[in-house]
Amino acid sequence: MDIFNMTDEELVKYIKEVRSKLKGDLIIPAHHYINRDIVELADFSGDSYKLAVDVSRSKAPFVVLCGVRFMAESAAILAAEGQHILIPEIDALCPMAEMIDANVASLALEKIQSITAKEPAPVVYMNSYADSKSLCGKRGGSVCTSSNAEKIVRKYIDEGKPVFFFPDFHLGNNVAHNLGIKDELIVKVYRDISFEEGKNLREAQIFLWDGFCPIHQQWHAEDVHKAREIYKDAKIIVHPESQKEVVLLSDISGSTQKIYETIKNSSPGSSWIIGTEFTFVDRIKHTFKDKNIYPLLESPCSNMKKITLLNTALAVQSVENFIDGKGELLNEITVSEELKKYSKVALEKMIEIVEGS
Ligand code: SF4
Repeated sequence: MDIFNMTDEELVKYIKEVRSKLKGDLIIPAHHYINRDIVELADFSGDSYKLAVDVSRSKAPFVVLCGVRFMAESAAILAAEGQHILIPEIDALCPMAEMIDANVASLALEKIQSITAKEPAPVVYMNSYADSKSLCGKRGGSVCTSSNAEKIVRKYIDEGKPVFFFPDFHLGNNVAHNLGIKDELIVKVYRDISFEEGKNLREAQIFLWDGFCPIHQQWHAEDVHKAREIYKDAKIIVHPESQKEVVLLSDISGSTQKIYETIKNSSPGSSWIIGTEFTFVDRIKHTFKDKNIYPLLESPCSNMKKITLLNTALAVQSVENFIDGKGELLNEITVSEELKKYSKVALEKMIEIVEGS
């Protein structure tokens, strides 16, 4: 089968045929930010947490996960015994997840502990690798998503623990603001593990790593003002990885899943300016044709764009060949048992905090 010479239509047909031949043994989930032609053929789509949970519930032995590497890794952490998680393009990385690792996070925790004289609680955003999640599990911390970060952070603050939030500065800063934490008690931690000056370090309640999403960090207050000026009747909804000034000027902020549900449930004819990844905004525009959808800026994630019909078909073909005993799986993502164990502890902590509140 010469996949390299297939048209897009032929690739879609091929992927669907192999999947139906394998009768439930192969599933193809796709993140919301992946190209529309792939999301349309996917078994299900969602944000990174939803994908990981839905994959583990599916029990399908082969999963071609169309997303960036940390998403496949998160699915591998929660995968059932015998499940193989593949990613179509191994170099589809998330720059934000790359901005810290467990060694650096450990050093930051030590420094926070020595300066506050309290045991800090590490809280890591889902957009991170297994070593970071595992560190949180080992140190009594938790994973969080953009929709539950506030609850998780509040829990540790109420216990009197300073929180080390990483890797996304903006999500942490928005959460701290919503929780009413005083500005002098919110401290940025720079890449050389130095602290922001002019803050009350000893009493600080939250330390925020200097990481960011290059897509969501792009928009500024003037973009919001300009969009309001052009689309006067539109509401503005943005992702909380956006800068605080942007979130404060918007009508609603929420996770990718929340943005999707909000638009889906809005009245026909309503108008929305959306501040998140552009491929997703464009798909929403095509899906909900009865609403007026405008992007805050046209900013696609270049790493999500690396997942194509061609490399998805190649991953699917490798599953077909592997089952027939004719080859290896392409780009299988695995996580060591040690990392899996403590990452799961941090994920379970998140569920415990969210469900217990
Ligand atoms: S949109 Fe941002 S956070 Fe999401 S994968 Fe791309 S760079 Fe990472």
